Amino acid sequence: MNSRWDDRTATPLLSSPLALRVYTSRLLGQEPTLVLHGGGNTSVKANVTTLLGDTEEILYVKGSGWDLEGIEADGFAPVRLSVAKRLATLPRLSDTDMVASLRAAMLNPNAPTPSVEALLHAIIPLRYVDHTHADAVVAISNTPDGMRRLKNLYGPRVLVVPYVMPGFLLAKTVYDMTRRIDWTALEGLILMHHGVFTFGKTAKASYTRMIRLVSRAETYLKRQGAFRVLAQSHDTKHRGPDDAQLIQLARLRQAVSRAAGAAMVACWDQSPEAERFSALPHVASIATRGPLTPDHVIRTKRIPVILGARVEQSVGRYASAYREYFQRHTHRGLTPLDPAPRWAVWRRAGSITFGRTLKDARIAADIARQTMRAIQWAETLGGWRPLPARDIFEVEYWELEQAKLKRTGPPPVLQGKVAVVTGAASGIGRACAELLCAQGAVVAALDIHPKIQRLAAASGILGLRCDVTQRAQVERAVRAIVRHFGGVDILVSNAGIFPPSETIAEMQPATWRRSLAANLHSHQLVLQTCIPYLTLGIEPAVVIIASKNVPAPGPGASAYSVAKAGATQLARVAALELAPVKIRVNIIHPDQVFDTGIWTPQVLAQRAQRYHVSVEEYKIRNLLRTTITSRDVAAMACAMVGPVFAKTTGAQVPVDGGNDRVI
Ligand SMILES: [Zn+2]
Repeated sequence: MNSRWDDRTATPLLSSPLALRVYTSRLLGQEPTLVLHGGGNTSVKANVTTLLGDTEEILYVKGSGWDLEGIEADGFAPVRLSVAKRLATLPRLSDTDMVASLRAAMLNPNAPTPSVEALLHAIIPLRYVDHTHADAVVAISNTPDGMRRLKNLYGPRVLVVPYVMPGFLLAKTVYDMTRRIDWTALEGLILMHHGVFTFGKTAKASYTRMIRLVSRAETYLKRQGAFRVLAQSHDTKHRGPDDAQLIQLARLRQAVSRAAGAAMVACWDQSPEAERFSALPHVASIATRGPLTPDHVIRTKRIPVILGARVEQSVGRYASAYREYFQRHTHRGLTPLDPAPRWAVWRRAGSITFGRTLKDARIAADIARQTMRAIQWAETLGGWRPLPARDIFEVEYWELEQAKLKRTGPPPVLQGKVAVVTGAASGIGRACAELLCAQGAVVAALDIHPKIQRLAAASGILGLRCDVTQRAQVERAVRAIVRHFGGVDILVSNAGIFPPSETIAEMQPATWRRSLAANLHSHQLVLQTCIPYLTLGIEPAVVIIASKNVPAPGPGASAYSVAKAGATQLARVAALELAPVKIRVNIIHPDQVFDTGIWTPQVLAQRAQRYHVSVEEYKIRNLLRTTITSRDVAAMACAMVGPVFAKTTGAQVPVDGGNDRVI
């Protein structure tokens, strides 16, 4: 591992201990093999003059909720060092009381809550302290004679600490072990099954020691041939997933969501590395012994599910085993977490992670990737031997984690759902994509216009260019969506065109054909392609965007009205056909939505002129005399796919400000 320290960047910061602290914390955060997603923490001790003119020694320690990679000065909690040090000397202290006492000892009450490892940072009598969960070191500690290996590797200048629960107990253990130790003779601490602490008088010294200690573990693993396993070429030829695999993935996501009692997003890791791991003959044994380090349990649960041919059964067995694990280890009236897996090993097909949000699923994927690597290193060192289940349980059901459960409010209404919106680059489709996203769904936005990719990148939506009148393109897009998110729960079929006004007598064949292709056939094509996945969806729902022209047609718009009437009839038949598999299909008839691409200023002016009114007057030609926006239609679409319409299918609802011809 190379040091990322750069004198040119660091020199201007030398006068500010906290600025330097931010700098090297970020250097650690840039290395995924050192810390992942909130893992690790750092601190600096500095004298501060308060508003009252007193000088106090303050421990600036990483606040919870911050990642080292992007931490700023505000991410450090300023705690009175004397209080933190005294807390570590108490004979016992609950972690809840510890956090409360640390918060009460902060110089700034608005700062984030100090890391649970704050006391350990406090008792180390050097100015800078760095803590990581370095994979290479932790992997060595997770082997049958890990402690002996680490002691031999590091010698007397590194103290190897047997595993204890992080928090007060860990600080207390180190405090007791080091009472008579000369800290200046030490370079670091190795915490078995957990991580590494280094420290120094300067930020550079502490950081450099971290890189040096971790590099030594990497060199050791290399010499033992551990890295060779991973470098072996991947023999299975990589192909795109076939439809049977995608159906299996959707089935798995459905089973996991049901076990969790909530919709989950799935991330499929098909990297050669994940595929190779999943194909190992003894994968069912090595993958199910435990996590790399206990704090990963919050993200991946203790172990993954190993999938058999019937994925529902695999998930069912996993859930019952999880309930037994809870019963075996529970105490003091703990609240059980849902029994669904967060990680699945799919034989010869890679690894899949799950999360209530895409972010959670991706964090689990990163952790799973590092874990698969570490397991294989440890296997070359005599076997993967992580902490026993009881210790993992204690971290999973830690009082601080349980307290977090009670604090969380209701999640966004569509959280974990996968939504597909067509015609999403502008107008109603774009509003639907944005609102679905705001309500917690992950959204795949399809459009023929290339700007869909730009739009999507800005809003965290998966943008796919797709002509929804072309079967091959629709099939490709739907495959990509399932591959990305694990299934489809929601379809808002919106894409359409507004053909030029032509009477039946003057109708151009091309106008007629184009309107039917874009406004009718496309709905059939997208719906048909999504049905196999919607059938395996979570509370699946379809919305077809039709038009006021269906109940109240106007002259000159036969190409449009006929196609939209066909789409409406398609949706009605779909509601009948899909009710047995619990897919709801509802229809919106919007009208006078003038903030869409169809309504250019010229078209608006023409229309207003035809009715002998001003453009402004034309815009509110409805019973409620109100303007209707894309967002109003999107709000109706979101209601239709959510719990409000849970008992409704086959409904046609206007969003038109009220129209006496429709009523
Ligand atoms: Zn830690």
